[in-house]
Amino acid sequence: DATLVALIGRPNVGKSTLFNRLSRRRDALVDPTPGVTRDRHYARVVWEDHPFILVDTGGIDDEDDTITNHIRHQAMLAIEEADIIFFLMDGREGLTPSDVEIVALLRRTEKNVFFIVNKIDSPEIEAGLLTPFWELGVEPLWALSADHGYGLNTLMAGVLPCL
Ligand code: GDP
Ligand code: MG
Repeated sequence: DATLVALIGRPNVGKSTLFNRLSRRRDALVDPTPGVTRDRHYARVVWEDHPFILVDTGGIDDEDDTITNHIRHQAMLAIEEADIIFFLMDGREGLTPSDVEIVALLRRTEKNVFFIVNKIDSPEIEAGLLTPFWELGVEPLWALSADHGYGLNTLMAGVLPCL
């Protein structure tokens, strides 16, 4: 079976931006697999000859749901069905209580989890924006700019052994 990589994280952290960046690579194919949850997008991506399926989770559809509940649900689904989890946080927003809670959940899985701090658009701001996230006690933290591409090759080099 193809390796499944799931993108999870609060709304607005940049999941869809990363999905689009990875899925618009020459060898990617956006594949609306029938019979799967409607609010999720799937793309077939090949990175250095290693194929995987990337899953982007949608927004909140239940208005009564809290963001943390929603992400907890996403995280539990991802822990169940994905092989690799990209947990995205927002480097510009800083660390949030919701991030702390979801990280605690993700630390308990045997799946490969990549803890990613997005919106780090240049190396100059990397150290400063990462600092609050060290409090999570997870290593490594992957600095990324889904928008500009900074950190993507480094992240994917780390992912490659898991593919
Ligand atoms: P999602 O809700 O997690 O899917 O987040 P989106 O991908 O829709 O991005 C939310 C907002 O953050 C958009 O305005 C993006 O342009 C912006 N964004 C995403 N990635 C980056 C990044 O690496 N740097 C900056 N500065 N903005 C970003
Ligand atoms: Mg999105």
